[in-house]
Amino acid sequence: MIAHNLAICIPNKGCNKNCPYCVSRMTGYIDSDFELMQKQMKKVIKISEMSGVTSILMTGKGEPFLGIPELEFILKGFNEFVIEIQTNGIWLNNNLDYIKELSKQGLNLAAFSLDRIEQFEEYSDMFSQVKANGMIVRVTLNITDMLPENLTFKECIELCKKNNVDQFSIRNIVIPNNISNDTKGSRETVDWIKTHVPENFYNRLVQELETEVKASGFLLRSLPYGAKVYDYQGVSVTYFDYCVQDSNTGDDIRSLIFQENGHLYTNWNSKASILF
Ligand code: SF4
Repeated sequence: MIAHNLAICIPNKGCNKNCPYCVSRMTGYIDSDFELMQKQMKKVIKISEMSGVTSILMTGKGEPFLGIPELEFILKGFNEFVIEIQTNGIWLNNNLDYIKELSKQGLNLAAFSLDRIEQFEEYSDMFSQVKANGMIVRVTLNITDMLPENLTFKECIELCKKNNVDQFSIRNIVIPNNISNDTKGSRETVDWIKTHVPENFYNRLVQELETEVKASGFLLRSLPYGAKVYDYQGVSVTYFDYCVQDSNTGDDIRSLIFQENGHLYTNWNSKASILF
């Protein structure tokens, strides 16, 4: 079995953001069993090493920083891997002292999910402290009508350069293929996406990115799931138009998922893909 990365779901303690496009609301939640996660940890590390995993992604159905003891346990267990965390940034921005601690515990990259342009400024101090403590700052911008409709790719890059952002990705907000959670909240989320994600906004930004990198950037690498990463004016840029919790790894296993129920899977949306 070959796997490039391992996603670890920090047990869900809710979220402090309530995004109207939240994917977890549509794909549903699963019961947490942190005791089982702890028990299975050594085996997950072993399988990851044997499968060739090079990077670990700490993510979850909620906001990972709302579960600090669990997060620290995972960081400690996997600190010999390259490790990143996906967050909305709210908790860390209110707890800047914790950035040093994260660095001490071996975190390599913090990926902040943003949906308003003003957040570049609001999080500016946090970004510079993350960078000053030896970690990489990635911003993923979720494309909806919460952004100015005339926003350009070049303006995004200027904001990155001004605010210490090393890596920038543009994310299309989509309705997942697998809506396993048929609730009022899930249906409202689907409706919100249908009305607040302008059809051509993401495509226009991607087009601008492609034009700009062709003119004055260059390809850095192609990622296993097909995305291409470019150097544009010293910022690493990419885009992706799928939803991570919906991604299907197909025949060739490329990622492992250590779910918060304590089991290891090869697909986000298949209970049958359980390994142990
Ligand atoms: S930050 Fe993430 S988990 Fe929280 S509401 Fe937004 S999309 Fe959902």
